Amino acid sequence: MTTRVSSWGRLASPEHQVIALTQTDKLRVVDGVNGLPFGNGRSYGDVCLNPDGVLWTTRSLDRFIAFDPELGLLTCEAGVLLRDIQRTMVPQGWMLPVTPGTQLVTVGGAIANDIHGKNHHVFGSFGDHIKSLRLLRTDGEVIVCGPGQHDQWFKATVGGMGLTGVVTQATLQLRPIQGPWLEAENVPFQHLSEFFQLADDSEAGWEHTVSWIDCLNRQGRGVFMRGNHVAAQTGPQPSKGGIAVPVVPPISMVNKLSLRPFNLAYYQLQACKRQKTLVHYEPFFHPLDDVHQWNRIYGPKGFYQYQSVVPRKLGHDAVASMLKTIATAGEGSFLAVLKTFGDRQSVGMMSFPMPGVTLALDFPNKGEKTLALLQSLDDIVRDAGGRIYAAKDARMPRELFESGYPKLTEFLKYRDPGISSAMSRRLMES
Ligand SMILES: Cc1cc2nc3c(=O)[nH]c(=O)nc-3n(C[C@H](O)[C@H](O)[C@H](O)COP(=O)(O)OP(=O)(O)OC[C@H]3O[C@@H](n4cnc5c(N)ncnc54)[C@H](O)[C@@H]3O)c2cc1C
Repeated sequence: MTTRVSSWGRLASPEHQVIALTQTDKLRVVDGVNGLPFGNGRSYGDVCLNPDGVLWTTRSLDRFIAFDPELGLLTCEAGVLLRDIQRTMVPQGWMLPVTPGTQLVTVGGAIANDIHGKNHHVFGSFGDHIKSLRLLRTDGEVIVCGPGQHDQWFKATVGGMGLTGVVTQATLQLRPIQGPWLEAENVPFQHLSEFFQLADDSEAGWEHTVSWIDCLNRQGRGVFMRGNHVAAQTGPQPSKGGIAVPVVPPISMVNKLSLRPFNLAYYQLQACKRQKTLVHYEPFFHPLDDVHQWNRIYGPKGFYQYQSVVPRKLGHDAVASMLKTIATAGEGSFLAVLKTFGDRQSVGMMSFPMPGVTLALDFPNKGEKTLALLQSLDDIVRDAGGRIYAAKDARMPRELFESGYPKLTEFLKYRDPGISSAMSRRLMES
């Protein structure tokens, strides 16, 4: 079946031959046409797209296979959504140690981008909690790998952007929790240097830390949000159902007119939640999941997400310089997220997280104007020795990809010759 498929940024919707994977022992390979695994399409750019090629969709691989309630070890198929793991396991006292800003991603997608959450300084990234995974190659070979077992295959596949094969199942180490609630507090800050001080001060006592930053404010005003899991007898419940953006508006609803009042209102709203409050993990970790198809607000041309990480030493100046560049360009981002990564190396050869500070921004696609701005941000990231997150990217230059990911040459040895993506053709030649 040929279908138009787009990723979360909605920048393009090329045709694909879509094949739903129902078996975990072989891939339907179409002669001479490369394939690509596809999870839930929550990547923003072209890492999950394979225009004019095959997409093996994995959502039908949605079974839980085994659970050890003593050890918290869960084995499941790769198309299971993180949301379904959380909702099944939290009532049993276990939770995924690492979840991203949306829980509507598959286990396979979480592995392939080695996703991170708000607690990198405590739990690292998703790959740190995989005991083993099953990798199906296009030649029919099955490789079971994990830490200490076909180690190099494991390191290539975690963060490997789906290019080493299809992950069909994985065994994950969950972490014990005492309930679904967290105690959270917000701390407003007026300058970027205050953000770094808050990050340092919070590292020892707070598991989850993240900041929203007002990128229309040149000094770096924002709100630092932090939370810890707590035991509570009762607490707020997550909302049921949520709301939806029903149509794609003819132009982006994120523009100069809407952004300034939004940022001011958001700042004031968050800044007044200073006291510690009890929150359910769903709104705390995944606040946007209740607004279905929120990506439509950017209009028919879609949007770019730009997420970089730069080493901590140069972090303050690099982030300040990025914010200044954005303000000077007269642009702004509605979802501007700043957080620090802990001082730990990632498992995957191509994993994004590294010790430093990461800034994620959304920009409506205004064609050349937006691309020129992103190129200026690239210069800052390159000079600071940083990298761009593939899960969010649709346009990074090849030399920045190569300098940002020094294990690329090693990784290429593990690629499956029957798999490629728009991103791999753009950045790795094939
Ligand atoms: C609102 C929102 C918030 C987000 N917040 C964060 C965040 O906080 N941290 C973060 O790290 N990311 C975040 N992301 C990005 C998201 O977590 C990743 O892009 C994730 O990989 C998407 O998973 P998916 O199942 O939708 O996979 P897709 O987007 O469909 O695919 C992603 C990649 O995984 C590969 N893949 C998918 N399934 C398999 C499989 N079974 N075997 C091998 N490869 C496979 C694909 O080929 C592709 O390369 C966010 C995304 C959104 C929309």
